[in-house]
Amino acid sequence: MNGHANGHANGFANGGAENIDVVIIGAGISGINAAYRVQTKLPDYSYKILEARGDIGGTWDLFKYPGIRSDSDFYTFGFEWNTWQKDHPIVPGSEIKEYLDQSVKKADIRRNIRFHHKVLRSEWSSEKKGWTLAVEADGHTRYIHARFLIVGTGYYDYNNPLKANIPGLDNFKGTLIHPQFWPEKLDYTNKKVVIIGSGATAVTLVPNMAPTAASVTMIQRSPTYIYSLPNSTRRWWSFLIPSFLQHKISRLAFIFLQRLTYLLCRKYPRQAKAILRMHSRRLLKGVLPVDPHFNPKYNPWDQRVCIAPDGDFYDALRGGKATVKTGIIKNVTENAVELENGEVIEADILVTATGLRISIAGGAELKVDGEKVDIGDKFMWNGSMIQDVPNATVILGYTNASWTLGADATALLTVRLLKYLDRRNAVAAVPRVADPSALTPKRLMDLSSTYLDVAQRLMPKAADQYPWKPRSSYYVDIWQAMFGRIDEGLESRMSIGEILDLPIALLSLPIVGFLALLTGPFRARKQKLNPQQTVARTLLLHVGYSILRRVVSRFSPLQIQSVSPSTTAEYKIYIWKKGLKDHTVDLGGGAKGHWLGNKEAKNVLIWIHGGGFACPANRGYFAFFGKFLSEMQAAGKDIAIFVVAYTLIPAGTYPTQLRQSVSALRYILKNTNRKADNVYFGGDSAGGNLVLGVLSHLAHPHPEIEALKLANGEEIGGATLFSPWTSLETVFPPQDTEPLGDLIHPLCAKSWAGGYLAGRARDNYTDARLAPLDWWHSVPVKKVLVTAGNYELLYPFIDDFQAKLKAGLGEDKVEYVVGQGEAHVAPMFNLMLGDKVETEQGKKAKEFFRELI
Ligand SMILES: Cc1cc2nc3c(=O)[nH]c(=O)nc-3n(C[C@H](O)[C@H](O)[C@H](O)COP(=O)(O)OP(=O)(O)OC[C@H]3O[C@@H](n4cnc5c(N)ncnc54)[C@H](O)[C@@H]3O)c2cc1C
Repeated sequence: MNGHANGHANGFANGGAENIDVVIIGAGISGINAAYRVQTKLPDYSYKILEARGDIGGTWDLFKYPGIRSDSDFYTFGFEWNTWQKDHPIVPGSEIKEYLDQSVKKADIRRNIRFHHKVLRSEWSSEKKGWTLAVEADGHTRYIHARFLIVGTGYYDYNNPLKANIPGLDNFKGTLIHPQFWPEKLDYTNKKVVIIGSGATAVTLVPNMAPTAASVTMIQRSPTYIYSLPNSTRRWWSFLIPSFLQHKISRLAFIFLQRLTYLLCRKYPRQAKAILRMHSRRLLKGVLPVDPHFNPKYNPWDQRVCIAPDGDFYDALRGGKATVKTGIIKNVTENAVELENGEVIEADILVTATGLRISIAGGAELKVDGEKVDIGDKFMWNGSMIQDVPNATVILGYTNASWTLGADATALLTVRLLKYLDRRNAVAAVPRVADPSALTPKRLMDLSSTYLDVAQRLMPKAADQYPWKPRSSYYVDIWQAMFGRIDEGLESRMSIGEILDLPIALLSLPIVGFLALLTGPFRARKQKLNPQQTVARTLLLHVGYSILRRVVSRFSPLQIQSVSPSTTAEYKIYIWKKGLKDHTVDLGGGAKGHWLGNKEAKNVLIWIHGGGFACPANRGYFAFFGKFLSEMQAAGKDIAIFVVAYTLIPAGTYPTQLRQSVSALRYILKNTNRKADNVYFGGDSAGGNLVLGVLSHLAHPHPEIEALKLANGEEIGGATLFSPWTSLETVFPPQDTEPLGDLIHPLCAKSWAGGYLAGRARDNYTDARLAPLDWWHSVPVKKVLVTAGNYELLYPFIDDFQAKLKAGLGEDKVEYVVGQGEAHVAPMFNLMLGDKVETEQGKKAKEFFRELI
């Protein structure tokens, strides 16, 4: 990797900045675990942990309040690779810190930690293909370059506590404490302590302060479920099993039981509530009523259920020095807290255990290509990467199970992602939401603590669809991390291989063109010797087709896109040359519609371009549209064209492009108030595939696309399909002649179809040719023209399809024309290559519309 590839893993390069393969921010539980995963699974990678503090542990180094401990079992809160070896599952903070120290030592991670290194800013540069981190260290700002970033900064602000919104708090003259900043020397012997809050911290403080303090009162606005758990896993039979095995079993058992209880509580909330109330009543033994103090308004696991190890919290209440008050604080005076119900609770010490101030990414500014990333606006890919942020995972553990389980799922996913990029020789991966309007936002963390509610705006969002769904459970997430689909929703930039290969590929084009020029004059002879041999009509087309065949078979989709103007750019060039006005519509979800002609025209032809879902529409398309419009106008036909610019592969995969095509039709019908029979479709090759998908969707709504119903009896005016790609074959019958008369090559099908399907199964929307005949019975379209060139590779498939379409839709509704000696999508591509002779297919299409309109 970096160290090996360019020899400056730990040295200084790039103008004094250090280069590291993976930078992990934060040496808390998440950062340490990620470091272990990187160093064991990616031994060739250089990595460093940058830690703002002077020690490891994060939370477990910072929090010092009395009794601080884990509130979930430590078999699952500890690391999978260093299972907790003691019998008590709930572990004091000091022991957690020792365990973390021992783990770091065991795995020899400390040498890779830079303490007192606070990351101020992380900026991704697409040009440099990496991150530059501005790091505050020793009073200076240093710069570090990294290829990949793992953000293990936890979820709260280390320096600023959450301001407690308590009336009159400033009046208080006693000692006011936030648990995050506990004064180590605080003496609370015989002091009256009031704790405001009802979360895990308050529930821990009560039993731990009660023996020393004069009194401890927990004031809660709303109660929490508090469950007593025996704090030992030792059983009478434990001596039969070796200790290490016993604790591994404990880990598995806790993972399973934790999940099971969570699911049961969610499924049977009433019963769970009743059990928890009974549990509290039994342990309270009458010292306090369950109502209202132990009767939360919400269901178990709407918020985290608090654990009381060996029932310590209930013991403290029964001991007489601790109590709970439930009510709203009216005012805080200089020595007491007044509740709205009139109760006054005296206090020498007031602890505001009201939550933490949420901060994602440790407060460091995040920028991508100079633009600040507003994390709250973004979706989270697989619970691990932020939408539109390349090469960075953000570790957020579980809230309904041990944090570390979720942290490990992200660490393992990161490792797999890096391996995946390496295998493809790719530089970067970026999570992209192809169609945000298709996603329903959900909370990332399925809990509703007050401080999480407050901070929703700062948190990334989840959605209702994979891979943007919130984390579900450890096993599902670990499976997903290790074996699940990793490319869904990820846009990989051109790999290093593709970048290096591009000039060679480009250089091969003039050579291919030159050879075609030399051999071109002999093509007629070739055909004479073998009548099956297809050849281009002119030398110009022969050279052009040869180059195009080379492009589609030699260039990857990303390489093609890197050297061709996008459909939108091509439209802009065209209107600029013709002196036309730009009438572009944002269709949402990354798609655009470009008007040509009078957009107020009565009729509109929605054109969905082809190019294997991989290539944009080229200038030949716009030349064709220009001619089409002027001929229509000359014939007195009132029609405009609406060209759809959809997301290409691999940025978008099926059914994104279909959804975008449907949204074009929805826009025309709903926003421009046109009747369906004034709306026509045109599509070529992969665009033909999409047109058929849209027509199918009208009759059989695609399960992942919002249904679009036409009014009863309404039909789309007509559709023309030039060389439609009607089934996504990747294997073609063996050819005994060279495809000299066509411009596509069998080799492109695999990467284009594969890129579009991205592992999904083919269906009637992707493979219209394979749909049963009755599929077409209800498809609402008046007439369809199918065209093909008899020299094109897809000819036999199109021939087969049109026969099926005639049988399904009706003989009288389908017209079929074969352009003799014509290539794939010849009406556009011949124009692109400068051949102005009208194709049979193009001519027929114009006749078709002249008759229809
Ligand atoms: C008191 C308390 C108890 C908890 N108990 C449990 C529990 O029992 N079970 C459970 O599942 N969860 C628990 N949690 C929640 C969570 O699991 C823990 O906070 C967990 O330790 C988080 O680990 P982490 O490594 O992700 O983050 P942290 O422990 O917060 O560590 C983050 C590290 O990143 C560093 N950092 C932050 N910003 C920067 C920056 N800009 N540059 C460099 N370094 C930076 C910090 O200094 C820190 O060392 C608890 C949380 C708290 C606050």
